Amino acid sequence: RHIPATSKPVSPERVAQVLADEWKLFTKNTKASEAESKRAFESLPLGVTSSFQHWDPYPISIVSAKGAWMTDVDGRQLLDLSMGFGAMLASHLNPVIVEEVKKALESGTLFVTPSPISTDAAERICRRFGIDQVRFTNSGTESTMYAVRTARAATDKNAIVKIEGGYHGSYDPFVVSSKPPIDKIGDAEDPIVYVPDGIVPGEMYVVPYNNADSLERTFKKHGSSIACFILEPVLENLGIILPDEGYLERVRELCDEYNVVLIFDEVKTGLTAGHQGAAQRLGVTPDLITLAKSIGGGLTLAAFGGKKKYMDFVTNGKMAHFGTFNGTPLAMAGVRAIDRLCSDQALADAEALNQQALDRISEIIDEYQLPAHTVGFGVKGCVTWSTQPVRNYRDYKATDFTVAEAHWLFALNRGIITPPGLDEQWLISLAHGQTEIDLLVEDFRDFAKALRA
Ligand code: PMP
Repeated sequence: RHIPATSKPVSPERVAQVLADEWKLFTKNTKASEAESKRAFESLPLGVTSSFQHWDPYPISIVSAKGAWMTDVDGRQLLDLSMGFGAMLASHLNPVIVEEVKKALESGTLFVTPSPISTDAAERICRRFGIDQVRFTNSGTESTMYAVRTARAATDKNAIVKIEGGYHGSYDPFVVSSKPPIDKIGDAEDPIVYVPDGIVPGEMYVVPYNNADSLERTFKKHGSSIACFILEPVLENLGIILPDEGYLERVRELCDEYNVVLIFDEVKTGLTAGHQGAAQRLGVTPDLITLAKSIGGGLTLAAFGGKKKYMDFVTNGKMAHFGTFNGTPLAMAGVRAIDRLCSDQALADAEALNQQALDRISEIIDEYQLPAHTVGFGVKGCVTWSTQPVRNYRDYKATDFTVAEAHWLFALNRGIITPPGLDEQWLISLAHGQTEIDLLVEDFRDFAKALRA
């Protein structure tokens, strides 16, 4: 995290002007995407296959991707820094992934019986993430749902504690206080649990990230009914929010003290946090972890796993786990390929490039005295538009979203895709090199110039 020593505000009028100019440029350059979106609206709500993919007036439409680059329907080459929200860590159409998947295709696409290829993938995941056992699923949402059920089976308790602002997929309990309206959530130390209409979550408690006292108070009051505490060890759905020193260690102690199962949701961190994931990198061992995105090389794959003591409840059937498409040979081939590709050296090299980008962008922030700072973790990085460190959801909500939107759109108009939600971060994959880092950094310099023009 690099916070600038001095900064000057950016003029709101200037930001509004940049945004207006950039939206004009966007609509001029994306006529084919606009037509494609109109067509898609007929058969797909919002014209997309996941509501995250939509933005107003319409998103760009992609026809193909290779390495770190995508081609859109308007024929433009775009540098992909979103990389499938982290699922494309190894890059688009990485030759090793293509090779392993082709090999798997020759043997069949679905057996629904045990196969050496799934045992092999499970062994690789257990070895890497330092867990005893694992089960495969098809999405992060399924994984977090089953991890919670495992915790309930193990503790004979039902309630869930989650982080205010945290996202863990679309299962009912996780939609609670996911991005709650700030005027509906009460006191920062003792947040009101925000349940959107139509959500039936069960008994839920919400605590701020980086606040072990609030967690302790919640456990003291309700510990006898709390099955688990689920959190991302590093929050990666609100930019990047790092744990304060000692926070995760204290969380571990409190969970032990109150017999609460600690679940680290590593759907986003995973291998983007380093070759063994965030938990091992940060030195705190959860009881269960959930994985998705980066572990499957872009194939449809997720997993939950952890200590045998908890996974025994899957074995004994108290928490039965099912799924027709669990551990398909193609997804297992993805695991095999990722294991071959993501050596500690390969990920350290990508991380060094990411660090270079963060350092150079921090220098530009200093040079232009921008009210912003950089945050990085593993191969991910982001610019947060605030001069204060962001430690939780409410800090995050106090950052400047208008400049963030202007930055995202400015980059998009110059052929660089970062995730559309403004909550996400860039990702340096195994295919990004010096050329791509230079593009990211120089684009930021151009944006800084535009803000100060
Ligand atoms: N947990 C976290 C931390 C996530 O970021 C996400 C998705 N972005 C999920 C769970 C849900 O994963 P999926 O979209 O695969 O259901």
